[in-house]
Amino acid sequence: MKNTRRNATHPSSKQKAVDISDKIERRTDNLTRIAIDDVQHFLFDPGESYKLFEALLQNIAEITNSQYAECYISGDDAEFPLYQHTELGVIKQKEATPFVHKSVLASWVEQRNVLTSAVYYNSPIPKGTRALFIEPESLAAVMILPISLNNELRAVCILASEIHSYSSSTLAQIRPIIDAVVCTLKSAETVRGNFTGLDQKIANNRYLSSLISSSPVGILVIDQGGTIILSNPVSQDIFDPDSVAADVNGPKSLSGINVYDFFPSFDGFFQWSNQNDKLNRDTDTHRPRLWEKVQARKKDGSMCVVNLTLFRLTYENRRLTTLQIQDITAFRQKTEEFKSTSQQLNALTQLAPVGILHVSIDWQCIYANAKWTEFSGLSQEESAERNWINAIHPNDIGSLLMALRNSLQQGSDHNQEVRLISPKGYTTWVDFSVRVLFDEDGNIDGFLGTCHDITERYVNQEKLRHIAEYDGLTGLATRMLFQDRLQQAFYDSERDNSMVSVFFLDLDGFKDVNDTLGHDIGDLLLQKVADRLINTLRKNDTVARFGGDEFVVMLGHDEFLTEVTTVANKVIENVAKVYNINGHELFITTSLGIAQGTNQNSSPKVLLKNADFALYNAKKEGKNKYQVFNQTLEASSKFRVSLLNDLRTGLSTKRFELYYQAICDSSTNAVSGFEALLRFKNKNGKYVMPDKFIALLEENNMIVKVGEWVIDEVCRQLSQWQLDDDFPSQAYISFNVSAKQLLNNDLVSHIKSACETHHIDPKQLVMEVTESVIINKPKKVEQIFAEIKDFGVSLALDDFGTGYSSLSYLQNYPFNILKIDKSFITHLDQSVNNSKIVKAIIALANSLELRVIAEGVETTTSKDLTVKLGADLIQGYLISKPISQQSVLPFIKEHGLAQ
Ligand code: C2E
Ligand code: CA
Ligand code: CA
Repeated sequence: MKNTRRNATHPSSKQKAVDISDKIERRTDNLTRIAIDDVQHFLFDPGESYKLFEALLQNIAEITNSQYAECYISGDDAEFPLYQHTELGVIKQKEATPFVHKSVLASWVEQRNVLTSAVYYNSPIPKGTRALFIEPESLAAVMILPISLNNELRAVCILASEIHSYSSSTLAQIRPIIDAVVCTLKSAETVRGNFTGLDQKIANNRYLSSLISSSPVGILVIDQGGTIILSNPVSQDIFDPDSVAADVNGPKSLSGINVYDFFPSFDGFFQWSNQNDKLNRDTDTHRPRLWEKVQARKKDGSMCVVNLTLFRLTYENRRLTTLQIQDITAFRQKTEEFKSTSQQLNALTQLAPVGILHVSIDWQCIYANAKWTEFSGLSQEESAERNWINAIHPNDIGSLLMALRNSLQQGSDHNQEVRLISPKGYTTWVDFSVRVLFDEDGNIDGFLGTCHDITERYVNQEKLRHIAEYDGLTGLATRMLFQDRLQQAFYDSERDNSMVSVFFLDLDGFKDVNDTLGHDIGDLLLQKVADRLINTLRKNDTVARFGGDEFVVMLGHDEFLTEVTTVANKVIENVAKVYNINGHELFITTSLGIAQGTNQNSSPKVLLKNADFALYNAKKEGKNKYQVFNQTLEASSKFRVSLLNDLRTGLSTKRFELYYQAICDSSTNAVSGFEALLRFKNKNGKYVMPDKFIALLEENNMIVKVGEWVIDEVCRQLSQWQLDDDFPSQAYISFNVSAKQLLNNDLVSHIKSACETHHIDPKQLVMEVTESVIINKPKKVEQIFAEIKDFGVSLALDDFGTGYSSLSYLQNYPFNILKIDKSFITHLDQSVNNSKIVKAIIALANSLELRVIAEGVETTTSKDLTVKLGADLIQGYLISKPISQQSVLPFIKEHGLAQ
């Protein structure tokens, strides 16, 4: 134990002298009670323990009537206060001369191990004890009173008297006072801590209390033993939230609880505390220390995590520690949650089968996932900043960046198929989707690009496209690809005003090859023709097959017409060269239509139509030649277009009419029958002849309806004429039927119903067909002919001599009449061969019991020849041109009827 003089600055030095002379008269028990009250007062202010001992010393000195009284306080403090009571009622200050050897007192106490038992000695005082006193000889009695708490000596009071002696009753009298002091100490230290009352002081200081109670962090003030002496609501909420919830008066103070209960496994706190204990009091105040993520235990045993700041604070000469506590449990939980969510997200984005790219508003790549790396060949680092753009294929970069810029300006999402190209040159087709990102204020913040691999789909698409774009048989471009290229050529033409030239080709008589040698040979021939075309033309010319034996060429150069026709001639020439196919030597020629145009005066559609029309004319003009689409053709093309439009309304506006041309006996000129010939009155009221419109009707599928009208009209007319007595019942009317009409399933039933409607005997009708109708579907035609024949309508083979002139048809099909084409008849006198052929035909017809009509008899010369050759009937301008229906009866009356 160390005894030194108390620091002079201590408040006790200001203690005033107290006059206690009047108290001597009091009854001693009364004195004791007052003394106990006096010391218990310090129950409310135990932090000032020296005051407690001062009060004790003063009281017991009075009660025991001691002349000398001194008190030595032990403790951690560097100094120990000494109180000396030299005369009654006077507490001497530190200047007073002590009557006890402080140095001896320590060893005296140690030797005797005095903790609680008080001792007193009256003269003679034992030697060992006498050594305590500076002038022991003058003393009659001494009393030594140790004051201990928890087996620890807290103070020693020494009383002495030169006059009195002490007795056991003296001791008994002061014992309750000493007990009261011990009790006070105990309650202060164990229940409320050494500094109970700090709460109260702070509560009295409005500013300080509101500062502490409104602090957003938990504040705990603890004493040296770790006992909490002050707590604010936040700390109460942290450590004892149940009480906060339960108590209507607000959180319960944590005072009295040892802070280590809250930090059971926190060693740092102890270390810090120990270190700081060794430090100078003035400096440690300024050494706060922060511990992060400290595990803390709440009152209910549950754990939480806090950030802890500790700092020392000396308050009223006591060392206190302040804890600032920030509960970060929720924050940590959020952080953990965020961490796990972002980990999940990260895992997801890394595992996702789509490439993900996060790009900021200034085009910097913020994030790229593994798939992006796989597709682009660029790692996240290599994609950083604007380097991700390097992954876009040069052919797609322009359009994609333009679209992205649009997206970033307008906030609109975007989707595009683009190629990514890796640094090694590997290309991946991706479907690139862009979702614009916005910040919290709604401003565009960048975009999230996702891309998924569509290479396979693209390869398949490419394959499909190839199928669509390239003809399977010849490997030439298809119509689709050709039209694409043609469109492109027109775009180019717009730029440089270049001329686009197109050939339309159609092989002459290819059908015959197919029909006679079979489709396989036909296909091989088409392949060879395609090869010839490719070899004849240049690389940048486009050669396409439009189907069948139709080929189309677009020249890759801007050329003058003379150059174009040179190329056309070369094509015609080369196609016409002999082909060796499976041992067959084949010849084929082509007709070719040429059309030229620029973006200014034409279009892909028009150009193709013009070339086709030129081809049509080349065919018409004899085949194996080219025709250039020129102004004349243009006019006729325009005429066709306007006529076609006109024809479409012809039936409903009743502008079709039938004219009738007489068929007469070649020797008597008497009328045998009439051929009904179709006329069309155009919108200007002018008659249009069948050679101008029949083909149009056929091409546009209008011939069936018009043909039905012809049959109806023939029957109606015939029934009208029959009302006239002059009209001979054996006279017949023939009508023309084209191939399309014949193959229409309704033809026979239509003829039947027309006859029924108008009460016409089928024997009065003749149906005229040309050989061409038989060629396509010989079996079907045979069946139709049989039905017609059965019904009673006669059959005439028209225009014989122009087509195949197959005599076998005459034998195999049930014809009644053979009409020799007018071209034969007209040139009969110019060719001996012709007349021989006609003679043979007529002979054959006669042997087959066919009647023969010679068409186109214009002159008496040809009529005579015809008669000579054996034709029964003649038809031609010589006798009559086709006449209107009103002229028919008068005509019969004039010419008479053949018998
Ligand atoms: P087609 O069946 O050979 O008809 C005979 C054509 O020869 C008629 O021409 C007629 O006017 C003409 N003709 C008659 N005698 C002479 C003559 O001495 N000299 C000359 N140069 N020509 C003569 P049209 O009326 O212009 O008819 C042309 C073709 O139109 C017809 O040839 C026929 O194939 C077709 N046609 C006419 N009407 C119809 C019809 O109602 N249906 C169908 N499918 N075709 C028809
Ligand atoms: Ca005819
Ligand atoms: Ca004819």
